[in-house]
Amino acid sequence: MSRILSLSFFFLLVACNQPHPSAAVMVVNPPADPPETFHPAKNVILLIGDGMGLSQISAALYSNNNHLHIEQFSLIGLQKNFASDNLITDSAASATAMACGVKTYNGAIGVNQDTMPASSILEEAEAHGMATGVITTSTIVHATPAAFLAHQPERKMYQEIALDIARSGADLLIGGGKKYFNHRTIDLLDLYEELEKKNYLVSDNYQTDFKDLQYSYDKNLAFFTSNDDPVPFSKGRDYLVPAAKMAPTFLANRSQKGFFLMIEGAQIDWAGHANNFDYLIQEMLEFDEVIGEILQFAKADGETLVIVTGDHETGGLSINLGSRMNDLLPAWTTEYHTGTLIPVFAYGPGADLFSGIYDNTEIYQKMRQALQLHDRNAALEFMPAANGSN
Ligand code: MG
Ligand code: ZN
Repeated sequence: MSRILSLSFFFLLVACNQPHPSAAVMVVNPPADPPETFHPAKNVILLIGDGMGLSQISAALYSNNNHLHIEQFSLIGLQKNFASDNLITDSAASATAMACGVKTYNGAIGVNQDTMPASSILEEAEAHGMATGVITTSTIVHATPAAFLAHQPERKMYQEIALDIARSGADLLIGGGKKYFNHRTIDLLDLYEELEKKNYLVSDNYQTDFKDLQYSYDKNLAFFTSNDDPVPFSKGRDYLVPAAKMAPTFLANRSQKGFFLMIEGAQIDWAGHANNFDYLIQEMLEFDEVIGEILQFAKADGETLVIVTGDHETGGLSINLGSRMNDLLPAWTTEYHTGTLIPVFAYGPGADLFSGIYDNTEIYQKMRQALQLHDRNAALEFMPAANGSN
């Protein structure tokens, strides 16, 4: 809304500076179209490094010969990520803030402080006929992906979240947690069957390696990368980069209207909780490969906004005196998350919106603004008031 107001103000200024009398008409009836200088994004790709603060990026950079793909970004902001009930956020509240634009309590999945569902950017994109996808290195029902696809009062309600995900309508789902879909204990539902009825190709790593998977653009795709949590990169998990490579093309072929894609590097956070520096660097470097792939797509495409950020920092990591290039002396202050501001990197149409210091809920608003979602015509069935007016 603030942009619309400032645009009106801009036209008012232009109008006042016009010597021509017809300029007054512009004041009464300002043009509805945005000015030519604002190019809306057709697609948005949001990359979330769970637990990725500035220290994690610095550590990966200086453990990799002073080079990362993330250095290609020139537009950088900072986000404030506190939860409504705790200055130190968890991944559920912070993902809900970015996905749905609401400040909420730790543990909340796509619901506001009063446990009321709030529509996510992914659901709104879906309702506008765009293609949507989520890829993660955790289970697909884990807090970060769940906040984009589900609405539950507590993050551990994995089977309830799985049901929400199976009914989300997302075109692409890649992550672990197979058992929550086809070995359920709270009901007798077989969500493999349900997904297939909803035009999904459903497969998993017990049937095929992701890289050998045969898929087509006329079906949605759900691929489960493990029964429970996927293993760390160092133990052989190898699907994230290939998935990041295929996903934008897959989604672009699923809809003419553009796409929304969220990719999460989930185990950066798990390495932080374990205070395991080698684990951290491996996960960070894999995530940076994803960033490289996505930027390559976006640069060729020209209509894609790419955002890279974290949800919070994990471990209170620091790089201490005595460190040398490729030989760091790390130190940790906690086995939980910390409250430090988190960097946001943006590239492509709408990237300018992401400079400055702002609340994590604004990431949702800025993505909507970049996509001009408020201008797209759609009959939204599911649009709770919890998000606010924009
Ligand atoms: Mg996560
Ligand atoms: Zn964590």
